[in-house]
Amino acid sequence: MNSRKEKSNKEKEEQKFWIIVIASVILIILIAGLIMFFMNNKEDEDEKTLAYTDLIKELSYGNIEKIEMTVGSTTVKVKQKDVDEEKTTIVPNTESFIELIQNKVAEGNEIELIQKPKSVLAQIPSFIITFLPTLIMLALFIMIFKMQGLGEKGKVYDDTQRKTKVKFDDVAGLDEEKEELVEIVDFLKRPEKFVKMGAKIPKGVLLYGKPGTGKTLIAKAIAGEADVPFISMSGSEFIEMFAGLGASRVRKLFEKARKLSPCIVFIDEIDAIGSRRTSNSGAETENNQTLNQLLVEMDGFSSEETIIVLAATNRPEMLDKALLRPGRFDRQITIPTPDLKGRLEILKIHCKDKRISEDVNLEGIAEDTAGFTGAELANILNEAAIIATKRKHEDIENEDIEEAVKKVTVGLEKRARVISDKDKKLTAYHEAGHAVVSRYLPTQNDVKEVSIIPRGVAGGYTMYKSDEDKYYVSKTEMEEKLIALLGGRAAEKLVLDDISTGASNDIEVATEIARDMVTKYGMSETLGPIDFRGKEEKYEIQLFGENIGDKIGQEVKTLIDTAYNKAQKLLEEHRDKLDNIAETLLQREKINEEDFKKFFE
Ligand code: ADP
Ligand code: MG
Ligand code: ZN
Repeated sequence: MNSRKEKSNKEKEEQKFWIIVIASVILIILIAGLIMFFMNNKEDEDEKTLAYTDLIKELSYGNIEKIEMTVGSTTVKVKQKDVDEEKTTIVPNTESFIELIQNKVAEGNEIELIQKPKSVLAQIPSFIITFLPTLIMLALFIMIFKMQGLGEKGKVYDDTQRKTKVKFDDVAGLDEEKEELVEIVDFLKRPEKFVKMGAKIPKGVLLYGKPGTGKTLIAKAIAGEADVPFISMSGSEFIEMFAGLGASRVRKLFEKARKLSPCIVFIDEIDAIGSRRTSNSGAETENNQTLNQLLVEMDGFSSEETIIVLAATNRPEMLDKALLRPGRFDRQITIPTPDLKGRLEILKIHCKDKRISEDVNLEGIAEDTAGFTGAELANILNEAAIIATKRKHEDIENEDIEEAVKKVTVGLEKRARVISDKDKKLTAYHEAGHAVVSRYLPTQNDVKEVSIIPRGVAGGYTMYKSDEDKYYVSKTEMEEKLIALLGGRAAEKLVLDDISTGASNDIEVATEIARDMVTKYGMSETLGPIDFRGKEEKYEIQLFGENIGDKIGQEVKTLIDTAYNKAQKLLEEHRDKLDNIAETLLQREKINEEDFKKFFE
């Protein structure tokens, strides 16, 4: 999360930088324009001209006193005998003009001929006048292209076009998915074998899955296994400020791919360009052009061109159906969040390059991290290495990894923060409230740790034992989850007869669950099993009238109210436990699983 924020800040700063550059360029153009305007005016006012034919005439009359020439220039200054001011004349051919003058002088005319060397200074104004606007325009174009990434062809493609060393062995879990993709590797290695057999060659494979589940990794592994170049780009990079550039980027990407064939083209976040073509807003039209170009490119390559397009998205429902037609992304593979076995394998892979103590219980860590993606697991081990270094451990210990899990889930422990006794009491009762309530809810997981040591933004936390990997969640389970979430707020109200802002996250999560129950899972009895979400996106026609929104709101409120009342009732019933646990928390700050169980024996 943080790194993403930093990145977008960086991008913003870069944008600011370019805006300043462009603004100053525009200023320079204005100033240059003004200078040119005044110089031209000055010329018009100051210098009277004399036509070349008139000059020849005057020469033959002997009326010319002095002629001043500059090397390399056809403009000459002429002083007539009876005129005070000098005039300028453009001569068509300076060499023959000089000859003419020399002849006149030889004939006895008194003409002073001055030939000045080319003066650098004198050249500057005309240089500016001729070239500056061009230069400025050029600079401006380079800048715009740079902003669009087109100017830096190298940067966009170079670091992505080299071959990757990632192999299938580096991708943990995902055995079935890998099996499906082995075929693609074979094809990239020996396309002729497939063509001879008359096999229809896959063109595009779409990888669905949450961020961090290893889509990019597996795409790279295919390229690595087949030993072919990996060309990649992210869908959001195609979306451009200037219309048409997205399409041209797609064209360039595939131009490159044709040159490097056989190869893999990887388009990350394809939903950014391939989302449904619905409205006609500016951005949408631009998307359409980009998407159309992508479709044209994919339809265009022939059987000799061994290019496989892999694309990744975490929002498959957003994709334009045109992308999924035969000959395009006709294969779709879902990359799931890893199950227990998958998590263990991922942890093992990422332990390889780390100093891990022999007593580390990776199985236990895998059990505690249900729902975590590969990226999160990799991150946990990295954090553990940092924590172990700080604690001056020889190797990474189990406790270091456990601390890392907490750091990633609840945030960093902040023992140094000074907390008033009043706040401590509030936190103690709030967390004890969660813990006691969930103890009496059969579907809720066992409490693993309760703490009033602040972590991240939270003043305290209640950690539960991790979920088994479950595919379905029942209505009862969701209702009890609501009760557990609201247990914190209910305890505050019951004991202190006041409520605090500390429950804001609980409320947010509870509301989301309740809304999903009604609108997504059809769990409301009055509204029935209907999907009420995102009507504009999903359905062309509006299925429901205006007042259905009121009903949804009422149902959500009923769910929350019922849960809150149950939480309060449970706490009233077990007030002794609540007081005991809160008191213990105030003394010891932390209660672990075993000690927590003892309160209920
Ligand atoms: P995605 O593209 O799906 O968002 P990535 O492929 O970028 O995810 O994964 C990010 C990182 O997480 C990888 O570089 C790798 O370190 C780790 N990772 C994710 N999934 C796995 C996996 N199945 N096996 C090993 N490492 C994984
Ligand atoms: Mg990725
Ligand atoms: Zn809470």
